[in-house]
Amino acid sequence: MAKFTGDYHTHSNYSDGRATIDEMIAAAKSKGLREIAITDHGPGNIAGGLKSLEKLLEAARKIRDINESLEDFKVLSGVEANILGEAGEIDVPPEIYERLDLLIIGLHPFVYANSLANYWNLVLKNQARQFLKVGNSQVTNFNTKTLVEACVKHKPFAISHPGLGMPIDISEVARACARNDVAYEINCGHLYQTPEELKVAALKGVEFVINSDAHFTETVGNLEPGLEIAMKAGIDKGQIKNLLN
Ligand SMILES: [Zn+2]
Ligand SMILES: [Zn+2]
Repeated sequence: MAKFTGDYHTHSNYSDGRATIDEMIAAAKSKGLREIAITDHGPGNIAGGLKSLEKLLEAARKIRDINESLEDFKVLSGVEANILGEAGEIDVPPEIYERLDLLIIGLHPFVYANSLANYWNLVLKNQARQFLKVGNSQVTNFNTKTLVEACVKHKPFAISHPGLGMPIDISEVARACARNDVAYEINCGHLYQTPEELKVAALKGVEFVINSDAHFTETVGNLEPGLEIAMKAGIDKGQIKNLLN
């Protein structure tokens, strides 16, 4: 019996996932989940994103039709939007994401930033930091600001893989999540988070969501590893949004 209500961060072949929406749904059902959200990458993601916002709406319409034929299972239409600038700008405008069931926002290293300055700070400096090990605190401050602003501005359901490959001040980001009712993701697709960092986030009173970030049917609903880390961090089960009581 599944311990979780659903998996709220997965990718289909509308972006860089390998399976169709139907195949992802079948995988979630076979894992005993009640819900799955299809959250393909926004079009600002270089190489991996949706081809256009129209494609996103097409996927949402498809999901609405699929839901009509399903019993005891729900598919949510969503998107994993990319941060494009310092003020928390994203690649999916409100008039589009308001038509979806769920919005996730994440920092990704290869995006079409919305200005030269933002391209410098968001893309180049994050890369230079990895190779040259310089400017860490500047990069951390910038990344943190973008996520905090995105939480305030767009109030997403969750932020994806906070701190993955792009350093953030966990405490600041978690505080913004708690204040804006945004879930802090525990990401099982990358499994990079430590109990210590989750403890820091938990202290700010955030709610967590454990997601697979699956790009293949095989990994849909693989949420146990995230729960293990959460338990090591001493997180209260009531603080995890998608855990069944
Ligand atoms: Zn992502
Ligand atoms: Zn993802």
